[in-house]
Amino acid sequence: MLNIVLFGPPGAGKGTQSQKLIDKYNLIHLSTGDLLRSEIAAGTELGLKAKSLMDNGLLVPDEVVIGMIASKIQENKHANGFIFDGFPRTVPQAQGLDKLLFENNTEISCMIALKVDDEELTKRLLLRGQTSGRPDDQNEELIRKRVQEYNTKTTPVADYYAGQGKFYAVDGIGEIDEIFAQLCKHIDSLLEKQKK
Ligand code: AMP
Repeated sequence: MLNIVLFGPPGAGKGTQSQKLIDKYNLIHLSTGDLLRSEIAAGTELGLKAKSLMDNGLLVPDEVVIGMIASKIQENKHANGFIFDGFPRTVPQAQGLDKLLFENNTEISCMIALKVDDEELTKRLLLRGQTSGRPDDQNEELIRKRVQEYNTKTTPVADYYAGQGKFYAVDGIGEIDEIFAQLCKHIDSLLEKQKK
C-alpha cells in the first residue's frame, strides 16, 4: 500500500494536491475536515459536538478523529493506499494512525509537507472564504487561531515522522502543477525503492 500523509497548515493546498495525487496513484482520500463537515451536515451528535470547536478554530478531540479514520480504513481494506489530509494533527493522532495501519499490516510510506508562510495562508483562506461557504474561512481572527493551533500542536507531528526517516518538504508557493511535480518526484522515488 502507498499511504501518504499530506501535511501543511490550513490553506497550504492540501485539498488541491490530494485530488491530483488520488487520480494519479489511485488512492483513497481521507480528510478529517471533510468527514467532520459531513457529520455536521448530517446533524449527528458527533457533528454537533465538533461544530463548536471548529467554529472557534480549535482541534476536535483525538479519539473522535482517530475513530472516524479507523472506520474508513476498515471500509477500504483493499485499497491501493490512502492520502491522509488534515490528519494526523497531533502526535497522539500519529501514534494512533501507526497502530491502526500496523493492525492492517501496512504503514505510512511518507509524510510530505507543503511549506507556505503565515501571511500567504491568511490571504489564501480569506479568498477561499468568499466561495467555500466555510465559516472558519471568513474571519481573519479565526484563521489566525487555526494557524496558531497548527504551529503549536501540529508542527511536532513533522518531527514524529522525521524520527522515522519518512519526512519530506516541498515549497507550497508556486504553480499547482509544479508543486504537484515535486510531490510526485518524492513518491516515485519511494515506489522505486519499494520495488527493489
Ligand atoms: P480542515 O478542513 O482540515 O482545515 O479542518 C477544519 C477544522 O476541523 C479544523 O480547524 C479542526 O477544528 C477540525 N479538524 C479537522 N481535522 C482534525 C484533526 N485531525 N484533529 C482535530 N481537529 C480536526
